[in-house]
Amino acid sequence: MKLSEFPDDVRKYLIPEPSGSMFYRCLRCKGEFDIDDLLYTCPSCGEILMLHHKETGETQDIEGALWRKLFNYRRMLNFNPLKGIFRYYEFIAPIIPLESIIYLGEAHTPLVMANQNLEKLVGLPFYFKYEGLNPSLSFKDRGMACALSFLTYLAKNKNIKDLLTICASTGDTSASGALYSAYLTNLIKSAVLLPKGKVTMQQLSQPLGSGATVLEMPGVFDDCMKVVEGLSEKYNVALLNSKNSWRILGQESYSFEIAQDFDYQVADKIVVVPIGNAGNITAIISGFLKFLKANIIHELPKIIGVQSDHADPVYRYYLEDDPSKQQFEPVKVKPSVAQAAMIGNPVSMPRVIDLVREYNQAAGQKRIFVVQVTEQEIMDAMIIANKNGHIACTQGGESMTGFIKAKKEGLISKGEIGVLAATAHVLKFSSFQEMYLSNRFPPEFEVKPREEFKNTPITIEPKDLRKLPQAGRPLQGKDLDQFIKASAEEIARILNLKEKI
Ligand SMILES: *Cc1c(COP(=O)(O)O)cnc(C)c1O
Ligand SMILES: [Zn+2]
Repeated sequence: MKLSEFPDDVRKYLIPEPSGSMFYRCLRCKGEFDIDDLLYTCPSCGEILMLHHKETGETQDIEGALWRKLFNYRRMLNFNPLKGIFRYYEFIAPIIPLESIIYLGEAHTPLVMANQNLEKLVGLPFYFKYEGLNPSLSFKDRGMACALSFLTYLAKNKNIKDLLTICASTGDTSASGALYSAYLTNLIKSAVLLPKGKVTMQQLSQPLGSGATVLEMPGVFDDCMKVVEGLSEKYNVALLNSKNSWRILGQESYSFEIAQDFDYQVADKIVVVPIGNAGNITAIISGFLKFLKANIIHELPKIIGVQSDHADPVYRYYLEDDPSKQQFEPVKVKPSVAQAAMIGNPVSMPRVIDLVREYNQAAGQKRIFVVQVTEQEIMDAMIIANKNGHIACTQGGESMTGFIKAKKEGLISKGEIGVLAATAHVLKFSSFQEMYLSNRFPPEFEVKPREEFKNTPITIEPKDLRKLPQAGRPLQGKDLDQFIKASAEEIARILNLKEKI
């Protein structure tokens, strides 16, 4: 829609100007720091940071109703910088000039309703939100769009050249970081650190294709994370892990979209999300809190975090209800099909602890829960979801089985509706699906496929044929007729087809 066609009260806000200022705040000592330097931890006490916005000017006075209207109208606006996460510009990073914003088609992922069969099976109505339809096929693109837009702004502003981005990854962070860095190829080079053998072939191919330097390391993700942390403290590199608070801001768009897609009615929604490094759940909590404070929503949805019993430090932390006795202990991870969440020492844990407290306080009741699921349950759920028309990855299966677990534990009331994160595309994790469908899981995963779900290709080999077609040597005449007849008969037998009368 053309700018002149928008209603008057909305038009002047549609294309925003940068406003206010932003700063890092330390979660422990509450020290505040300028964003002119790239910081990942507090220079005084070493704790992790969050970004905040000091508002000035017009946007401060916008009412909830006008925000809602503005975001609804921005859906109709054909203006590249505001098409992705920055539809919610004022709530993400309103100091970034619009010309520095990178948009690669991320965000505004569809909510797809579970069919009747699946709803009956689970016992509750729910939607999957398909984060696998982002450009690098996972939700990480939301955070990268923000982090790389900020880096672009910083580089232009400070005339920085030869920027190198780096990240440790369970697969999807590196795919996303490498993609966005590749788009900015004249400005940025990228390197990624992966635990060798702990990311799928598809995930490995992504940063390679984007031209990143791919470094494979012994150990698991937690080991790689320690190495990049060491690197980013000592050398001049831009860290793209969710320790980088700009990532968190971008991922808050996930909550904003859920609010908008349900016409800002979220009191009866249950947002279910797998937890790995805990960046995403941090962003989701923070996002809903921001919309509540701005009166865009009036109630907070329930949030359920899910962890596999092979990597469950956050679940264990919340087993203790009494905050004065809660104590965080990292865990040693075991091989998990939810490989993208196979993390024993989540970097964002201090953020989670603070935000969960704030969220429950704002809601006036406990609204965030963490449940634990098994590897078997995760795989079964993924397979069942996809047999009912979804495109859930293993972590999507984790969301679904977590939702079922929450129901069993009495955490869900009648009338509530699930919004489950399918955090990546199923094809990134097709190796796990393949192991399940062909019963070839290594024992350490502790997954036994259900017999009725087995599915492997069937070779059609018509017997007693003189000749079979080969590439470059097609059959002809009688040979072809015989081949068609024999193949059709065999297929009809397998599919149990009845002849037409
Ligand atoms: C990163 C990732 C997760 C875990 O998210 P955190 O922010 O690390 O908790 C879950 N699923 C997929 C597909 C991921 O890529
Ligand atoms: Zn500090």
